[in-house]
Amino acid sequence: MAVPRSLVLITVDCLRADHVGFLGYPVATTPFLDSLATESFVFRNALASGIPTYYSLPAVLASRYPLSLGRDVIGIAPGESTIATELKECGYKTAAFIAGNPYISRADGYGDGFDVFRDFSSLGEMGFRAHSGGEAKPSLRGRTNQILSRACHSVPGLGAAYDELYFQYCQKLSQNRVESLETLRRFPTADVLVDCATAWLGENSGGPFFLWLHLMDPHAPYYPKAEALQEMRSRLSAADSRDLNSFWTRNDLGVGRLQKKCSSIESLYNAGIRWADHEIGRLSKKLAELNLWHQCAIAVTADHGEEFLDHGGRFHSPLKLNEELVRVPLLLRVPGYCERRELHRPFGLIDLAPTLLDVLDIPTPASFRGRSCWKEYGIDEGGSQPVFSECAYECTNPLNAETRLAPRLLAVRKGEYKLVVNFASGTEDLFDLNSDPKELRPLPLKPASDVRRNLLECAKKHVTDSYKTRDWDLRLAALARDLRQEWAQPIPSRPN
Ligand SMILES: [Zn+2]
Repeated sequence: MAVPRSLVLITVDCLRADHVGFLGYPVATTPFLDSLATESFVFRNALASGIPTYYSLPAVLASRYPLSLGRDVIGIAPGESTIATELKECGYKTAAFIAGNPYISRADGYGDGFDVFRDFSSLGEMGFRAHSGGEAKPSLRGRTNQILSRACHSVPGLGAAYDELYFQYCQKLSQNRVESLETLRRFPTADVLVDCATAWLGENSGGPFFLWLHLMDPHAPYYPKAEALQEMRSRLSAADSRDLNSFWTRNDLGVGRLQKKCSSIESLYNAGIRWADHEIGRLSKKLAELNLWHQCAIAVTADHGEEFLDHGGRFHSPLKLNEELVRVPLLLRVPGYCERRELHRPFGLIDLAPTLLDVLDIPTPASFRGRSCWKEYGIDEGGSQPVFSECAYECTNPLNAETRLAPRLLAVRKGEYKLVVNFASGTEDLFDLNSDPKELRPLPLKPASDVRRNLLECAKKHVTDSYKTRDWDLRLAALARDLRQEWAQPIPSRPN
């Protein structure tokens, strides 16, 4: 079989595995990818090596566990080998188009190895601030609300009623504002990125190339393209979407109340997936037009999933490692292999980079921790080695260096069993995903089973190896970069 000359990697932010058609979702979110799956390798149990983005992507690009350079290191270290640096070294043209995720930036080393790296960062920063709740000085209305809210919450039973009234009041006010999905949206949509990518391909596809797209369409706040809502026959308007998003971010509601709008929120999320799918289809068409389709390997995956109250939560904070958060779709289309073939065993995304280089017949650098599953005949079902996912518990804002040092949350998956160890609370939960796929019933602690003991041994070895195999030069280089960036910030002026 001829070796493909080029590689396209597409990561879709927040795309959970059970929301794509080719893995069984009954809603038509991914018609294009479903058709691509008929001629691709489909990984049924691909698992992110960490959540969220900043704990997942080091494994995807550099085949490195996210905490293995030390919990205080975020991003790709200066000088670290990635798919991009390796391919550039081999003479590939390289480009990345990132839809404004503030954690995928040049400052965090993601631009290394790319001739062109466009991250739409000003849009992304805007979205990040809005999403994380950071905002400018509160208005008079905001300050009055804060005072009243504090007063009401000091009286038992009155706080919740006040929160509800204030929410209704804000909804009423915003009804008078005419907004469109375009103005509400925080991130560039997939069509913007595909336009950039096709323009770049038009000029750079004479030789081998590596193109990476990171799409944010399914990411919260959920403001999909109107076309995608139409394609999915949704009647939700821009105003509905705005109200739903406002509702969904409320912190004063219990799961019961949130549940009432969950399916509508999922419709918005699904439309985001549909648009990403549509645009991946358009990019593929362009590759065919440029006569590149038959020489190009394509991998489509996600950095992590998204929670819709499955375990009582929303979004994708590093608080849990449940399947809705760690299990992601993964499709690998290699020219010459024309049938759908499936890999059933758990596959860690840490193994993706070595697999992709292997597909291109490029040697894997020594620093890659994962192992290729590529063989002459395609992907290999292989043995039952443990698959790890990890994050620093509750580190929701790594820009604040102190939160990075939170204790580790670690999941070990082997076959149908999954052990989640929370180093913050000193607790561990073991699940049998065959009999309990939704992880609702942890297996009893006693009698201590061989499975539990074995997975605990794997967890221990992973943590020890993380330290033993640490690349101290890369660690120092990453810390020095952080310090330089900190020093480059303007010194805050003293308050008068
Ligand atoms: Zn992400």
